[in-house]
Amino acid sequence: MKISAQFDGGNIEVVEIKGPQHIHLKIRNDSNAEFKQWFYFRLQGAEGQSCHLQIINAGETSYQEGWQDYQAVASYDREEWFRVPTRFENGILSIEHSPDFNDVYYAYFEPYSHERHLNLVAFAQQSPLCKVEDLGLTVEKRDINMLVVGEPDKSKLKLWIIARQHCGETMAEWFMEGFLSRLLDPSDAVARSILEKAVFYIVPNMNIDGGIKGNLRANAAGMDLNRQWSQPSLEKSPEVYLVKQKMQETGVDFFLDVHGDEGLPYVFLAGCEGIPSYNKKHQELENHFKQAFMQASPELQGQYGYSKDAPGKANLNIAAPYIGETFRCLSYTLEMPFKDNKNLADYEFGWSSERSAKLGEASLEAILAAVNFIVDSRS
Ligand SMILES: [Zn+2]
Repeated sequence: MKISAQFDGGNIEVVEIKGPQHIHLKIRNDSNAEFKQWFYFRLQGAEGQSCHLQIINAGETSYQEGWQDYQAVASYDREEWFRVPTRFENGILSIEHSPDFNDVYYAYFEPYSHERHLNLVAFAQQSPLCKVEDLGLTVEKRDINMLVVGEPDKSKLKLWIIARQHCGETMAEWFMEGFLSRLLDPSDAVARSILEKAVFYIVPNMNIDGGIKGNLRANAAGMDLNRQWSQPSLEKSPEVYLVKQKMQETGVDFFLDVHGDEGLPYVFLAGCEGIPSYNKKHQELENHFKQAFMQASPELQGQYGYSKDAPGKANLNIAAPYIGETFRCLSYTLEMPFKDNKNLADYEFGWSSERSAKLGEASLEAILAAVNFIVDSRS
């Protein structure tokens, strides 16, 4: 019996294997950082055996609440990921599973590989609507790909969407797959209507190095990118520095930052109520977008989410408040669960790549509503 994690996105340390009922593992820290939660590994040689895998340092990870009612995902073919019985007790995360095949993969959530990211960019660039523009290099000198969708024109709104600042929140790039497949579909009336009035600047993966390393949050320099927006550095957080620089060049009329949340079993939005410039107009615009999004997808709800920032108390190191304040525009963080959406539970798969992609497709309807609202309010 063997466990390995030396591949794109892999993360686990083997403490001890004494047989299928005694497999002790540890999640390792993000590179150069204290965060830990993401795991992804391969077990070989356990076909038909009842296995008890124990992650013995789960009690020391970044989000303890993430393990309550959590079920790990597993796959034989690396395409379909299903949930397996998992429980959290006395600081140990236990997975009980009898694999049907010799090789089985386990992960915190369905992985999204760097190869798949490159495939997504390659798919997008074949559309006449899309141009790939690289913004520069990550800490480890990988390309930061940005997709420009639509004809840039001074009169058009500038819509920015970014995903995976926290690389282990892979649902964010699955969301992007659905979003892009609909946006680039020339027969889709919603997409076409948006593109008449707006142009998109899309960064489908903000934290490429961290994803390859199997980190939850940090980039290769150990930085939490979503805490760098006030003062990013080209050395330690070039991913934010370069995107911010481009935003200053293009301007921003709409911003969506796509994430996953470890604790809450819901899909929700986090807005800008705590930024200094927040006013009635901003609130109206937020509500309009949120209502349209909830109508487009019942996965999104408005009851559960982060507690709202008090007026003026927003953390401007976080992307959405920083951009909402700097550009005085609609600016939201979107959160999807690692567990399941309790309102529409699916015991076999939980929250999944498919549901993330469908939410991405549905988001276009809310974006159209927001675009029309902004255009109307300016005329
Ligand atoms: Zn996040």
